[in-house]
Amino acid sequence: MRRRLRLARTLVMLAGAVLAGAPAGRAGERALVDTTRSPKAVLYMPDLADVRWQGGLLGERFAVARDTMVPHMGELMRNPATSPAWTNFRIAAGLESGRFRGPPFNDGDFLKWLEAAIQIFAVTREAKLGAEIEETVAVIVRAQREDGYLHTQAIVPQRAGEPRREFADREHFETYNMGHLMTTAAVHHRVTGQRTLLEAAIKAADYLERLCREKPQELARNAICPSHYMGVMEIHRSTRDPRYLRLAEQLIEIRSLVPPAEGSDHNQDRMPFRQMTEAVGHAVRANYLYAGVTDVYAENGDATLLAPLRAIADNIATRKLYVTGMTGALYDGASPDGVPHTQHKFIRPVHQAYGRSYQLPNLTAYNETCATIGYGMWLWRMLAVTGDARFADQFEQTLYNGVLPGISLEGKHYLYTNALRKLHAFDVPLRWSRARVANIPASFCCPPNVVRTIAEAHNYVYALSADTVWVNLYAASTLDSRWLDGTRVVLRQETDYPWDGGVKLVFDDVPGRDVTLKLRVPGWLKRGAFGVRINGEPVAGDFAPGTYAELRRRWRKGDRLQLDLAFRPVLWEANPLIEETLAQVVIRHGPLVYCVESNDLPAGVRLADLALSLRPPTAFRVQRERIAGATVATLTFDALAAATRTWAPGELYREHEPAPPRSVPVKAVPYFAWGNRGDTEMTVWLPAR
Ligand SMILES: [Zn+2]
Repeated sequence: MRRRLRLARTLVMLAGAVLAGAPAGRAGERALVDTTRSPKAVLYMPDLADVRWQGGLLGERFAVARDTMVPHMGELMRNPATSPAWTNFRIAAGLESGRFRGPPFNDGDFLKWLEAAIQIFAVTREAKLGAEIEETVAVIVRAQREDGYLHTQAIVPQRAGEPRREFADREHFETYNMGHLMTTAAVHHRVTGQRTLLEAAIKAADYLERLCREKPQELARNAICPSHYMGVMEIHRSTRDPRYLRLAEQLIEIRSLVPPAEGSDHNQDRMPFRQMTEAVGHAVRANYLYAGVTDVYAENGDATLLAPLRAIADNIATRKLYVTGMTGALYDGASPDGVPHTQHKFIRPVHQAYGRSYQLPNLTAYNETCATIGYGMWLWRMLAVTGDARFADQFEQTLYNGVLPGISLEGKHYLYTNALRKLHAFDVPLRWSRARVANIPASFCCPPNVVRTIAEAHNYVYALSADTVWVNLYAASTLDSRWLDGTRVVLRQETDYPWDGGVKLVFDDVPGRDVTLKLRVPGWLKRGAFGVRINGEPVAGDFAPGTYAELRRRWRKGDRLQLDLAFRPVLWEANPLIEETLAQVVIRHGPLVYCVESNDLPAGVRLADLALSLRPPTAFRVQRERIAGATVATLTFDALAAATRTWAPGELYREHEPAPPRSVPVKAVPYFAWGNRGDTEMTVWLPAR
């Protein structure tokens, strides 16, 4: 009984310490990514709790993250029957006995879940969650070795007296795990003011620094899935210790030490970073690397880093990006052909790879959810160092159509790979499930990654710079933040976006001096489709799509802006060099990509027989409905269905027999909402006739 009382008191104290609030610091220093003092960043994020959802699609997703995704995943990862992740930490901390189980990167995946929980806590300040976070942190800190190394796969056997060499195999993911420790620790410190996890992360960074100095080649060889670039940079930003910036710079330089015979696109070390011009190889590792290098550029302004980043970003956006904002097309690809690799013997296989230019298959798309998330993290960083609205456009495309599909609407089922077409007759075995699953024991990397990204999505809506507020995303929300000089800005955004293009912005607090409002004019809007009224008066201006509309004036409290983004459902087509989408179209409504699922077809109509009519053009009706507890806008329309003869088993080709199409009523749902109503067939692209 006394023990229980003591435990209860400890919990109350822990919660009290947490509730005491965040450390003192300038606005933006408690942000998810802190670019407040980055010389090359043109904007910075508000603090982690400065933006609040006010309903809407993303607000509803946050609520599901708070109420279901985070608690459910916590149970999943703590229960030894469903995941060894938490047990491994407890054994490494000496709190349990047993052997290490599961994949080597489970530590990092558990830390991603913890980051999501901390972000939820930043917004809710709920004492019970705060106490759970602190108890979890205490165990992780205890699991760390005194020299800063934290990797339970090695620490667990070492505790049992079995020798285990560190950095002996790149597939051990040590830097990945320690990188997530650093990112999570920075967020934990910024939210709670506690230094517990931050000190552990600093020790881990110091460990990497020693390794980088003493065994650079070994570190370079094993720096797989490099979350540690971003991690080290956030530790630099939290501590302002220049040693960590130098470490991150060194981490880029030592990549050149990997002998050519060993380097490959599997780990982005076939060539030195500065020579890269094209996105190739393992897409998660590529995108994490690009994001981390952008962080380094933001601090040191090394133009020789920005040039390859820009080239690679262009290469993806113009040749290697799915319409859903996803990347990493192939289960198995190869290092690209081309000078100097024109000979077969130099071409190396790579798994979950960026394809060659325009190689974007739908049925067999790999598109690991983590690759999309890495791409999104990179896009925000490119926006931060360039201020180019194009990156905000791509971020929006990726968030809605690439990140959201990674988890079911109810919040308990996950997609590891993301196909854009699914047909039951296509029974070719692939390594991963094409339907949502409740657990992915072999690689639980994507589920906590998507949960933390949804929990953190509000951080991307606005940005600040001197006397300027950037509105990057339109979504029902409030911003209550301060610029670096301490002056406060409170902005309210009322909108039904992405379902509707009407947006109302109201200044609830604004300083008595000129302030610039930068409003993103989406690149996918038609010219002239973006209108602004201030307190009812239309604002004249040529608001070019793909730029920020800039409105500078002395705003007054209560000033109202009414934005009108005129959009309706439209058909998009792909460059015909993408063979897999030839003569097909995709339905878009605002930023959302739509798809058709087989359960929305009339009886007797097969998905494979469906086509869209171009003449007369298809008319869409927008209506609201609930799918798996989520509010979405669906599109109903008349499509063409040709009753083609069923393909016989083994029949690969046959003489074409015209089958007159008939008109059938069909419904399309947002792509992120697919696969929530059973094991359906689905397609994003539809033939156009
Ligand atoms: Zn993943």
